[in-house]
Amino acid sequence: MKMKIIREIVEIRISDIKLEKANVFKNQDIPLNREHSLKVETLFTEAMELFIEFSHPKGLVSEIPIPEFEVVYFGEGLNEKKTPLDEIFKKADYLALFAVTIGEKLSQKIGELFELDEFALGSMLDAVASEGTEKVADIVENRFSELLAKSDEITSSTGILRYCPGYCGWHMSGQKKLFEFLHPEDIGVTLLDSYLMKPLKSISGVIVIGEKEIHNFIDSYAFCSQCKTHFCRDRISELFRE
Ligand code: SF4
Repeated sequence: MKMKIIREIVEIRISDIKLEKANVFKNQDIPLNREHSLKVETLFTEAMELFIEFSHPKGLVSEIPIPEFEVVYFGEGLNEKKTPLDEIFKKADYLALFAVTIGEKLSQKIGELFELDEFALGSMLDAVASEGTEKVADIVENRFSELLAKSDEITSSTGILRYCPGYCGWHMSGQKKLFEFLHPEDIGVTLLDSYLMKPLKSISGVIVIGEKEIHNFIDSYAFCSQCKTHFCRDRISELFRE
């Protein structure tokens, strides 16, 4: 039996956010396989201190039925003709819209550092904040899967992945309908005319829950030839790792 629709503001403490230093360095193209200079390590420590001082993480998740998500996904009609998500979401057991943020104060702090020509610390803090926002999204995704698990809706063959407007053929303008349905302003996130979010260090999208196999696709869509990272390969491998 399907549970009733879930909508929850997820409370997050800074101590819940487990940042991975390797990801922070990777985001800045700092090589991972050699010892870092004292300067780089010091910048990382300073950035972490600022992250702890200025972050105000918040999350929001709201289940959405497939027919309603179809409207959100269509958005302003600007998506690529064929996309992985278009094929995946129709086979899902559950969908949930989500938005997360690390807060405005941290974005302001990053801006201040750049204005003061503190580029090295500004860049390190920017990378820490991006990694932190991803971790907040992980926490919200886990929270939604915990809620489903309580009602025995999750099994060992269930795969949970999130997809975001602006990636893999889902046009950035998709944020507009997503915001109309989700109302991320409840956690202080608003959408600018440019479809960027305020605070800048925010993520929104859809969490797709279904058989792992539905997330498995070949990266041969028209736009994949322009893709620098092919990050979908790591996500799919991770899903099928024992
Ligand atoms: S190759 Fe790149 S653009 Fe294509 S689906 Fe994978 S991550 Fe998305």
